[in-house]
Amino acid sequence: MPEGDTIYRAARTMHAALAGRVVTRFESVLPQLARVDDQSPLAGRTIESVRPEGKNLIIDFSGDLHLHTHMRMNGSWHLYKPGEKWRRPRRDMRIVIETDAWVAVGFTIPVAAFHDAQSLARQDDLRHIGPDLLGESFDEDEALRRIRERTDFEIADVLLDQRIVAGIGNEYKSEVLFLGRVHPFAHVSSLGDEKLRELLRFARKYMLASVRPKNVYGRGGQRCRKCGTAIAFAKQGRDARSTYWCPRCQPL
Ligand SMILES: [Zn+2]
Repeated sequence: MPEGDTIYRAARTMHAALAGRVVTRFESVLPQLARVDDQSPLAGRTIESVRPEGKNLIIDFSGDLHLHTHMRMNGSWHLYKPGEKWRRPRRDMRIVIETDAWVAVGFTIPVAAFHDAQSLARQDDLRHIGPDLLGESFDEDEALRRIRERTDFEIADVLLDQRIVAGIGNEYKSEVLFLGRVHPFAHVSSLGDEKLRELLRFARKYMLASVRPKNVYGRGGQRCRKCGTAIAFAKQGRDARSTYWCPRCQPL
């Protein structure tokens, strides 16, 4: 699954390229999008903004039309100059948004729908989403409040829950806990506010900089870079997500 910072960067790049430009051509193999384009054409509308909401990407068009997409595991957006060769095969194309200067192509995007502002606000994927860790202003107090509500839950699962705080992916989950010396299976109730704030700040700092620390993630059985102990590995939570930690640096 793309990490939140991947979506954030994609949205920033697309916004810089597309905002203020007029759509010259729209194409989609997804029937629900093609239908809307038939009834009220995209061509001629101005792209107002491209923005991330957690792991969702939203493109706002003039005339109160909003394209909500979610990448899930394999989806991605590419930007091309008109006529430039695509780096993924045409059969993977789901959405093309063309302007005079740039062509945005959405490949294997599994979740895509047009909304007006009202129906967008009702989207389950968006409605319950927690404070955006990568947003310009991150509401740390609200994130802390939501974490505290999950007092009997394991901290690694809580960090991944987009309804609590949006943006943290599986790799950062393990790395942030290592940096904070917190055992991934520790219950929220065993952690103080300062420690929880520290974890959120590590996550925001590294993800905004797109730095992947590579201390523990994917290093099961190898020596800890700090103390030499073998890195532990377990599947954790309802979705059996991979978790890595150092048993000595992160005691339970
Ligand atoms: Zn260690």
